[in-house]
Amino acid sequence: MRRLLLSFCLLLFSAVVWADSVQGIRVSHDDTSARLVFDLDASADYNTFTLENPDRLVIDIKDFRQREKLIIPSLINTPVQSVRYAAYDRETLRIVLDLAHEVRYETQTLGPNKGYPHRLVVDLDYTAKQARQSLMAARQEAEQEQQQPVDSAEQQAEARAKIIKTSKVLPRRDIVIAIDPGHGGQDPGAIGPKGTREKDIVLSIAKRLARLVDQEPGMRSYLTRDNDVFISLRQRIRRAHENGADMFISIHADAFHNHRARGSSVYVLSQRGASSEAAQILADRENAADLAGGISLEDKDDLLASVLLDLSQTASLEASLEVANTVLSGLKRVGHVHKKQVESAAFVVLKSPDIPSVLVETAFISNPDEERRLRTASHQAKLAQAMMVGIRNYFQRNPLPGTSLPQQHIVSAGDTLSMIAQRYQVSMADIRSVNDMSGTTIQIGDVLKIP
Ligand SMILES: [Zn+2]
Repeated sequence: MRRLLLSFCLLLFSAVVWADSVQGIRVSHDDTSARLVFDLDASADYNTFTLENPDRLVIDIKDFRQREKLIIPSLINTPVQSVRYAAYDRETLRIVLDLAHEVRYETQTLGPNKGYPHRLVVDLDYTAKQARQSLMAARQEAEQEQQQPVDSAEQQAEARAKIIKTSKVLPRRDIVIAIDPGHGGQDPGAIGPKGTREKDIVLSIAKRLARLVDQEPGMRSYLTRDNDVFISLRQRIRRAHENGADMFISIHADAFHNHRARGSSVYVLSQRGASSEAAQILADRENAADLAGGISLEDKDDLLASVLLDLSQTASLEASLEVANTVLSGLKRVGHVHKKQVESAAFVVLKSPDIPSVLVETAFISNPDEERRLRTASHQAKLAQAMMVGIRNYFQRNPLPGTSLPQQHIVSAGDTLSMIAQRYQVSMADIRSVNDMSGTTIQIGDVLKIP
């Protein structure tokens, strides 16, 4: 009895002291930088990432929980508008810094010293913001000059040179595509009638897609796994975040009890539930991957709702839908599609609030015919190419600030070559030469490189 009581007390005790917390926040700043110091109970194992529209810096501290209310110091004259915090899940304290604009940031932890406890130091640097403002101003000026009716070619060239010159202020970065081959390790995913394992097929397709992305100027790929290893669904999201992903594309191969089911499907996250019963069954199965890895997934939906919903999920849902549609139309060119529309379901891997995320079921591995095709290099290559077309089209239509995809123009109804030349401020002859055109005829849907 005493032993029982003792272990009960220990249990209670460990439940109480289990999580550490933030003791307080201190802020200092000058004209171009601000420093936030979080005084902590213990050293912090933490992750950071930024979100846009509105700009935020998110700090996730593992094994921390905030019981005492934090006093937020004055944030006047810093780009931080407010500091919020909440339990992200049972083990993680999430701190969100709402920012007036984008900042560069650095973080470091410091051990106890001179009466100070463990600290997490966040330095915000906003000199970049000033550089961007001057770039914007120069652009506007250049645009205004271009709009003057009596512009000489010389003036135009000067204005363009100005844009190019100021553009150098900011280093251009590559667009990062996180490619997520489903399953892996002890989780084989769906298995075809001939024994083909989903985890092997999707890894091979993902690697092909990664190569295509890397060949694309202005883009690079990040694979959440590049070998046969188990990764939890949350880890996949975290890795994508940590590697600065601008898009998340999870690759799978469907299975269905009806062996005649065939074709590709593309899914986006749904908060309200699945668009069809089949979509629900599929989401349950893909989500169960975490259980296969020995990690209980639990229902984090309520906890997620509190913080994640706040992180402008709706904005990226729209973006996800657009990505999904461009990918689906790419896949339509390869072969059958299972459903003509993008479907939605509550996939855990798609629960990334700020990165447009889609899940592609490339084909039905349960269909003997599709299983056979999925094993061939040529079909895998076609699927990867179709996804690449979708990704490229999306970023052509939605250019990311700070990145540089070579300019292309997709010809739409009513376009003429001279209009396009005028719009991009290049000569018709230059467009014709980089696109190997003999005449001036263009057709709707043509993709023209812009010199
Ligand atoms: Zn799967």
